[in-house]
Amino acid sequence: MIFLKRIEALGFKSFAEEIKLDFDFSMTGIVGPNGSGKSNINDAIMWALGEQSYKTLRGDSMEDIVFSGSSERKALNLAEVTLVFDNSNRSFSSLDFNEVAITRKYFKSSKESEYYINKSRVRLKDIQDIALETGLTKSSLAIISQGSISNFVESKPEDRRKLFDEAAGVARYKKRKEEAIRKLSRTQENLDRINDIINEIERKLPSLQKQSLKAKEYSETFEELKKIEVSVLLNDILLYKNKLEDLSKEKADIQTEINILEKNISKSTLEYNQLRSTSGENEKELSKLNKDFTKIVEKISELKVAKITLESKKEKSSIDDNEYKISDLKSQSKEIEVQIDSEESRLAKLLNEKHDKKIKVDDLSSKRYKLNNELEHINKTISKLEVLIENLIIKKNSLDNLFDGVKNILENKNILPGIIGTVSDFIKVKKEHELAISEALQNNLQNIIVKNTNNIKNAIEFLKSNKGGYATFLPLDTLRANYINDELKFVIKNTDGFIGFGNEIVSIEKKYKIIVDYLLSNYLFVNNFDNAINLSKVTNSKFHIITLDGQRILPYGAVVGGSKKNKNLNLFDANKIEQLEEEKKQLIINQEEIEKQILNLSEEIDLQREHHNEIQASIATSKKTSESLEKQLTKIKDEFRILTGKELSSEEIEYKSIDEQIIKLIEEIAESNNLKQEIEKEINVIRSLKDQSSQKQNELYKSLEEDRNMLSVLKEKYSSINSDKNLLLEKETNAKAHLAQDYNMTYENALKIKENKLDNEKEVREKIKELRLKITNLGNINLDSIQEYEEENSRYEMYLNQSNEIYESIKNLKGAIVDMDHQMIDQFRKIITDVNKVLPETFATLFGGGNASIIYTNPEDILNTGIDLKLAPPGKKISNLNLLSGGEKSMVALSVLFSILKVRPIPLVILDEVEAPLDIANVERFAKYIKTFINNTQFIIVTHRIGTMENCDKLFGATMEQKGITKIVQIKLVDAKKITNSN
Ligand code: ATP
Repeated sequence: MIFLKRIEALGFKSFAEEIKLDFDFSMTGIVGPNGSGKSNINDAIMWALGEQSYKTLRGDSMEDIVFSGSSERKALNLAEVTLVFDNSNRSFSSLDFNEVAITRKYFKSSKESEYYINKSRVRLKDIQDIALETGLTKSSLAIISQGSISNFVESKPEDRRKLFDEAAGVARYKKRKEEAIRKLSRTQENLDRINDIINEIERKLPSLQKQSLKAKEYSETFEELKKIEVSVLLNDILLYKNKLEDLSKEKADIQTEINILEKNISKSTLEYNQLRSTSGENEKELSKLNKDFTKIVEKISELKVAKITLESKKEKSSIDDNEYKISDLKSQSKEIEVQIDSEESRLAKLLNEKHDKKIKVDDLSSKRYKLNNELEHINKTISKLEVLIENLIIKKNSLDNLFDGVKNILENKNILPGIIGTVSDFIKVKKEHELAISEALQNNLQNIIVKNTNNIKNAIEFLKSNKGGYATFLPLDTLRANYINDELKFVIKNTDGFIGFGNEIVSIEKKYKIIVDYLLSNYLFVNNFDNAINLSKVTNSKFHIITLDGQRILPYGAVVGGSKKNKNLNLFDANKIEQLEEEKKQLIINQEEIEKQILNLSEEIDLQREHHNEIQASIATSKKTSESLEKQLTKIKDEFRILTGKELSSEEIEYKSIDEQIIKLIEEIAESNNLKQEIEKEINVIRSLKDQSSQKQNELYKSLEEDRNMLSVLKEKYSSINSDKNLLLEKETNAKAHLAQDYNMTYENALKIKENKLDNEKEVREKIKELRLKITNLGNINLDSIQEYEEENSRYEMYLNQSNEIYESIKNLKGAIVDMDHQMIDQFRKIITDVNKVLPETFATLFGGGNASIIYTNPEDILNTGIDLKLAPPGKKISNLNLLSGGEKSMVALSVLFSILKVRPIPLVILDEVEAPLDIANVERFAKYIKTFINNTQFIIVTHRIGTMENCDKLFGATMEQKGITKIVQIKLVDAKKITNSN
């Protein structure tokens, strides 16, 4: 049989040059002097088949298998060996090729081996597996050295059995059994560990289960309570809201009433005070006029006395009655004429005055009319402003302009600590900067200022748990600004059109300054786009530049511009409200001023009207007086005509000096009378005004009294509504806080999931109490215990399963070990029986007679028993194997070896000088005996013995023609003998 067809080797040990050995006969001999490299062939075969032990390969390290150089040849880096096997009868059962070439390469530089089967790269394991299929493994059967042969007989029975184990294939089982035992012990350890864990869990589980059940009961009760209480709270909140709305309306109505009343009171008070002060002045005037009046009355009576005295003088000097009568008539007529003249001039004066007064009243009235119009306009403007302000306040309070997240946070400000408000609530922006600032800040206007970073955590949790949107928070404690350095600031300030740095053109309370520094330090504001471009160049496009009309240049040069509706401007409502309030204040000052002016004008008009009326009355009296005087004159003239028969004409009156005096007196009296009437008129005017004023004062006083009472009633009502409102607000806040704190819900959120309507509120409230009590009675709750219990329980089950599986696998492993033991025992017994069948004959053939058998040293324990030899060489009785000669020991070993080969043939056996100790006759027998196996086994025999050589079909000679480099060539027997003899 030829199994190994060829060996090719290069760089392996002493094979510095390529060697190629073709094995075309079943029995090939390799001969050569000591150290020529014969055994390196065995090493090459072993190595190519995957040998990993450098010791087995007779080296100190794997690098020793590469040609290490000689005196004439440099060392090599690569060792390569290829074995070519005949596989036509599928000795390598897994390889479907007729020929199998196994190659191993080793690179000294990388210390790496590469393996190939039929030139395809494979793993070491693939080589080892196919080697196993043929029995060509590291086995004392396949490659047998002289040492192992001579040791066989001397070795201990336990070591001796190894050969049979290998032959029986038991070695494999042993290895597997060892593995199984190792695995078993590992598995057992694993089981112990798992059982420890199971015990541990079992200890914890009952208390955890108890806790978990309690927690579940708590959760269920809590959920029930939540469902009911959320509804109750929502109902309450809704109720509070409705009531609050009603109260707000009522409050607004009352406020309007209060405003009107206050306005009236202030107006009436002003009027009342004005009247009082005018009354005082009138009083003074009146007393002065009364004095004047008394004086003039006195003067008139003095004049009248003087006149009477003169007239009496005149009487005494009268001649007769008739003459006296005529003279008297003359003087009377003169007196009346004087009076008529005086009355006429008075009337003329009065008519003039009347005209003047009318003009004055008209003038004052038109002034008052204009002022009234002006006042009406102001009033209307104030009303409009009030509506505007109210709407802005409502809009501001409604938070509708804000993002959901921001809105939700602000609405729940009182339950979220540290929330201060939005940026837009706090910054003050000049009107002309509003557009640019809102462009710069954009959505940052809605950033929420908070006291510190911890507050943010709370707020974010709140938003998350209520799915309430998101918001940006600015914590005052950690916020830092990125300021522009002073040099650069100086340059920027001196650039054309620069208006200011963002953080400097808006104002904010000092404690919040960091907010604008953070948001706006890097924003530069300029008057127009050209200057913006220029500033961007100057600052190397590092900052945001914004024009007053809202065009922007971003850092690195992008430009955002055009026109858009700026929703953010709404966020400046607070600013706007302030502006409007200021406007309103100014208008109210104007309003009051005009009202005062109107009041003064009205008083003046009243006065002038009164004068006018008095003048009118005086005109009437004057006309009457004139008429009566004319009548008197006519009567005197008639009397005169009857007496004298002549007409009385003024020219005819002759005056005596006394008459002239009297006439003068008459004129004076008339004049004084005029003055008296004048004074009387003034007195009348003032009196009438005084009367009117005091009546008016009384009325005003009364109405003021009423108004004040009314006002205090209304104010009381207002404050009671206010406190009711505050109470309701507090209740609403509490209810909301309750929702948020106990159920982590915002009002809006709760509204969305509100389910049940409350039927019987009393019952429901009772139920809430009951559930609360139940929760209190449950005591301490560990909510995590539900999950912990579930996790722990499933862990428990998992470990229990694992433990069962491990029990099962231990059982299987133990079963497998028992099976293997049975197999090993069977196979071991079988090989021993089989060998014992052929051993006597083999022994007899090699020894030329005698008998031999193998026996168990411990038949009770086949698995561990050693193997002993029972020998009877021809004519000898052996009591101690050590007494055998060296040659005999080798023969015994060879007999056993050949017996094994007989019953368990393997395809290749390499014998390395195993027959060295034999004598020539025995060598002959040995060589002949080998021949009997060549149908089933190929032999490669390294030998120095001629007997062996003679029986080989082919001989290779190993030489070192070049020092240190093995050369192998086929040689003839004669040459082989020569080599051997010279050795
Ligand atoms: P003997 O008949 O004495 O058993 P042999 O012919 O079997 O001798 P080997 O043991 O096969 O000789 O070969 C040993 C030779 O191989 C020695 O000369 C040794 O120097 C040489 N050798 C071993 N390894 C290397 C190596 N890595 N590089 C070069 N030569 C090596």
